[in-house]
Amino acid sequence: MQIKLQAGKYLVNKEQIIDKARSEVRVVLTEIESKELLQQAGINVIDTRLATSKQEAKLISRQLGFPIVLKIASPDIVHKSEAGGVRLGLKTLKQVGEAYDDILLAVRQGHPQAVVHGVSVQNMARPGVEVIIGMSKDAQFGPVLMFGLGGILVEVLKDVSFRIVPLTRKDAREMIKEIKGYALLKGYRGQEPVDLSSLEDLLLKVSDFAEQNPEIKEIDLNPVLAYSNGALAVDARLILEEALIS
Ligand code: ADP
Ligand code: MG
Repeated sequence: MQIKLQAGKYLVNKEQIIDKARSEVRVVLTEIESKELLQQAGINVIDTRLATSKQEAKLISRQLGFPIVLKIASPDIVHKSEAGGVRLGLKTLKQVGEAYDDILLAVRQGHPQAVVHGVSVQNMARPGVEVIIGMSKDAQFGPVLMFGLGGILVEVLKDVSFRIVPLTRKDAREMIKEIKGYALLKGYRGQEPVDLSSLEDLLLKVSDFAEQNPEIKEIDLNPVLAYSNGALAVDARLILEEALIS
């Protein structure tokens, strides 16, 4: 049972989110479900709400304030941008309404079989250095955390570092410093230098989250925006372990 608190906000606990996914025989949690679990664990994610109609998307946008980002909310669509399911920097209610229609049209055309929960609504975060934090499970070492810079640096250059969970603060510090792109975090071409201690805090919190939630198989925070005064995940995906067959 979900109790609706205000537009797009539901009172849900971890068990309810996981039970819902299990009952639908899926292991991928949506962006909204993933962010909800992470936020409950004290991980800094951008406030994200579900709209199930265009009117609701506009109402939530008005509550959050502009600029707004809309994204497709579907457990079947893991790469939202590729599916035409992300619209950034929306500045008016009119733009929100148009983007809502555009997203649903693109997804219906490209992924006609996808189950669609609605559209997620969040603020457009100010620019920062995009980093990624991931967790996957190694057959030998168990949960392993990954850190890297976002975008092309991770996709093309595979410039990432790894540590085994649980991390110490020293591990977190080292894994940030050992990537080749580290210089970009210290201020590049006039960009503000990133607050490294808040990135370390975030890595440690994700490590704790992985340790305390063995039913989570994978974590993907991509991107996290790193600032001179903090860090904020604007996209998140959790994948559950396959349910045990009893
Ligand atoms: P996906 O990875 O599924 O394509 P994302 O949610 O990561 O979708 O969005 C794609 C890109 O849009 C991100 O890599 C980021 O650059 C940008 N973005 C997403 N959400 C926000 C936001 N709330 N504020 C600012 N930029 C965002
Ligand atoms: Mg992403």
